[in-house]
Amino acid sequence: MSKIRILSDALASQVAAGEVVERPAAVIRELVENSLDAGAAHVTVEVQRGGTALMRITDDGCGMDREDALLCMERHATSKIRTKEDLAAIATFGFRGEALPSIASVSRFRLATREKEALSGTEIEITGGKLANVKDHGGNQGTIIEVRSLFFNVPARRKFLRTEATEYSHIENQFRTHAIANPKVTFTLIRDGGVAYHLPGAQNVLERIRGLAGDELANRLIEVERLEAQGIAVWGYIGGPGLSRSNRQQQLTFLNGRPIESQPINYGLREGFHTSLMKGQYPVTFLFLEMAAEAFDINVHPAKKEVRFHDGFSIRDVVAKAVKRALETANKLPEGLQSTVTRVPRPALQLRTESNVPTPTQQAFILPAVPLRIPVANPAPRIPFQTTIIEPDQTEPEKYTPQPIPKHEEAPEIKAAPPAKPATPTFRIIGILHRLYVLMESTEGLVLMDQHAAHERVNFEKIRAAMEAGGVPSQRLLMPLMLQTSPRDADILKRNLDTLTRLGIEAEPFGPNTFKIEALPTFLKVDDPLAWLDRVIEELQSLSSKSSAVRLGEDIIVMSACRHSVKANDKLSIPEVQALLEDLFACEMPYCCPHGRPTLIQMSMGELERKFGRAAP
Ligand code: ADP
Ligand code: MG
Repeated sequence: MSKIRILSDALASQVAAGEVVERPAAVIRELVENSLDAGAAHVTVEVQRGGTALMRITDDGCGMDREDALLCMERHATSKIRTKEDLAAIATFGFRGEALPSIASVSRFRLATREKEALSGTEIEITGGKLANVKDHGGNQGTIIEVRSLFFNVPARRKFLRTEATEYSHIENQFRTHAIANPKVTFTLIRDGGVAYHLPGAQNVLERIRGLAGDELANRLIEVERLEAQGIAVWGYIGGPGLSRSNRQQQLTFLNGRPIESQPINYGLREGFHTSLMKGQYPVTFLFLEMAAEAFDINVHPAKKEVRFHDGFSIRDVVAKAVKRALETANKLPEGLQSTVTRVPRPALQLRTESNVPTPTQQAFILPAVPLRIPVANPAPRIPFQTTIIEPDQTEPEKYTPQPIPKHEEAPEIKAAPPAKPATPTFRIIGILHRLYVLMESTEGLVLMDQHAAHERVNFEKIRAAMEAGGVPSQRLLMPLMLQTSPRDADILKRNLDTLTRLGIEAEPFGPNTFKIEALPTFLKVDDPLAWLDRVIEELQSLSSKSSAVRLGEDIIVMSACRHSVKANDKLSIPEVQALLEDLFACEMPYCCPHGRPTLIQMSMGELERKFGRAAP
């Protein structure tokens, strides 16, 4: 029986359309969600070359009959929604009926599918959006979708793909998130022919986390017992005190089984963890929210990651309560954790309720800080030897005057403003260590440049200069974006509209708590401007009211400059390093990144000689 309906035009336009396919990981997200929607118990994801050469998703879900298989390739064909009421109450992942046609229009696409009782299945080939072949398919029940040569017909999009390793890591994150949200489903990820993950169906979320991240992490998680209030249920697992991250990458939140990002949840977490987290640290969470479909709107974000709640305050409240309660319980040491937790006596509990004030003899327990196996983005490498930070000359600001670059052996040389005593030291680039530190020879000894920190500094100053010179170049949006905020956030935004304008963001109030965003700074290379703006608001919120508007703007710049700087291990060529050095020395403050970390350090010959025992210490 045919299940798919074509959406009416009116309904279709009610659904926020957007770019579905931003990168290979987005294709994986759509296809895996379809498999889960189809009730699959086994989902296998195969990728080659970071997904750019091949992505193949095989499931044992309900499959499609021939009519549906052909229909699902039409825009706005979906079996999951028919009326406006359906749209409000959507419970499945898909809802817009545009993933498959979008993906097929930019790839060599093959769909093979068979329904359970059907005698034979259907195979469809589409190349760059054109139907190339339809034939019988004799495979098992379920669906196989193959996406080859992504963006083969859209060179402009292909150019924006990052390295295969980067694209793969996005796919991996997507895969892991799905796996956590659906513990009972068996997931397999095959990368370039080798099994990267095989996760047999697990009993529960904790077991799945154990399978993915290992005992080390799983044993250190605290259970958030199910809390139901105000039509919201919250449960899951969180890292206890001592288990935190410097970014949000392991702060996973799910709504009705769907991975989401949401400000009210973030605020709730922050409030719940309160003193248990160091400043600038983010918790590790696997938090599941459940609520009626009418209580939120998932059409906000083309990638369906971001959700708008009708009552964000209650969400924040319930999340905070659930987390607080879990941390309090953990401080009392629940049975289950006894064997894996080290007892560390502390004079007082940080979190307490009236019924839970410890007597002087009671001991509180915290989890030991054990390094985890899960990689943290850009771990700051430690340099195990003593170094001297080159100080800028305090007496007069240094200005770099570009010089013709003299030849010296085969490696290029750069004349730069003096980092230390000599007036015009010559840096000769020796090479790049671990794709991170540029090694240079100076007359003084060895100079190391942190290329990431240097990039941050350069970007920061470029943007700030543009701001001071009458505004950052901005780009009008084809379609204005609508940013909905809480009343409090609306206030913050209104107070900072001027700063935002100088930053290149054109925003104007549009209704009580809505802003129309008509232009964004050109430097901004984010997938999701609305989420970025939410972060900006969050940033503005956390700054004290004393700071001047300029300071606020600057802080935002630092934030985005850093986010859009070269990552620690991007490979630079020697001419790129040279250009970076020149840019760095054209900066007002070349010697530290916007966070105050050094960009350059020097080891003098004397220091080396002492280390090698050539000179007395
Ligand atoms: P949506 O998921 O928004 O409905 P898609 O373009 O992703 O839109 O899919 C269109 C339709 O194709 C789905 O509604 C579903 O009926 C069908 N479909 C897609 N993938 C599968 C699958 N793996 N198994 C069964 N049916 C599928
Ligand atoms: Mg879908």
